[in-house]
Amino acid sequence: MVLYSDEVQIIYPHLKKMEIIRTVKEMREFSSRSRQAGKTIAFVPTMGYFHEGHLNLMREARKRGDLLIISLFVNPTQFGPSEDFKNYPRDFERDRKMAEGVGGDILFAPEASDMYPPNHQTIVCVEKVTQNLCGRSRPTHFQGVTTVVLMLFEIVMPHVAIFGEKDYQQLVAIQQMARDLHMSVEVLGMPTVREVDGLAMSSRNTYLLPHERKAALSLYRSLQKAKELLKQGERKADRILLEMNGILQSEPLVRIDYVQICDAHTLEDVVRIEGDVVVALAAYLGKTRLIDNLVYRIL
Ligand code: AMP
Repeated sequence: MVLYSDEVQIIYPHLKKMEIIRTVKEMREFSSRSRQAGKTIAFVPTMGYFHEGHLNLMREARKRGDLLIISLFVNPTQFGPSEDFKNYPRDFERDRKMAEGVGGDILFAPEASDMYPPNHQTIVCVEKVTQNLCGRSRPTHFQGVTTVVLMLFEIVMPHVAIFGEKDYQQLVAIQQMARDLHMSVEVLGMPTVREVDGLAMSSRNTYLLPHERKAALSLYRSLQKAKELLKQGERKADRILLEMNGILQSEPLVRIDYVQICDAHTLEDVVRIEGDVVVALAAYLGKTRLIDNLVYRIL
């Protein structure tokens, strides 16, 4: 059987060499040229230190566009002053190989000074859906996220962009931004990828000491409990939250930031569970802040 070069790329995506682009200018030029040539662009923005959660988004994106562009940028503006920007795990060579392995065409890895040149002064703020949940303890986080994502969309010019439900509030905020600003990009969410024991994959899991890693499983256990209660027909949010808090509090290493049940679209707290909800939580294990959630749809 003769394989033509395009077919080789589809059947064995890892055989194709991925290009690295380091500047905003080159990235824009590449995307403009690709669009002019009629190619569709699927985009996965990341902060690197890849795991299966990231790779799953990339595989989905690979199927949805002629070109797969992945950005790797640890965005300083979404970290608070006492957060882990400096220590955030980074390993470019490892990430490069992994992104190439799933068929990435371009890895866009800009410098912060290129993304935020001197005198940069514009921020994008999605107002309501960013107030609750993580917005309470990280008041400037989401404006950092939406600002950088809007910039990345302008630079990469994707037709479709894929995000994880692991960061559910982030996904909702970006979808809201795309709608509000009449952006042409389609913003899709993909389910959370977990370790075999249930812990949601996260680049920050590498910070966890073995005993913290073990205690962190209570986050998943509490969400499983919520799911079980919802399946049994429990509709009072406070009953579910009580059980969840009980599970989390039984682990002395877990310091709860929040446990809440919100409308899955507005992200406002609900008292009675009626439509789609997100059961969301954030907790510290030592210095590491982890988040997780469960989206539950009542049909
Ligand atoms: P990050 O590099 O942590 O900013 O994440 C980049 C993208 O991967 C975001 O859209 C995240 O929501 C997504 N992501 C991170 N962890 C997971 C996971 N465990 N499952 C699915 N998506 C994830």
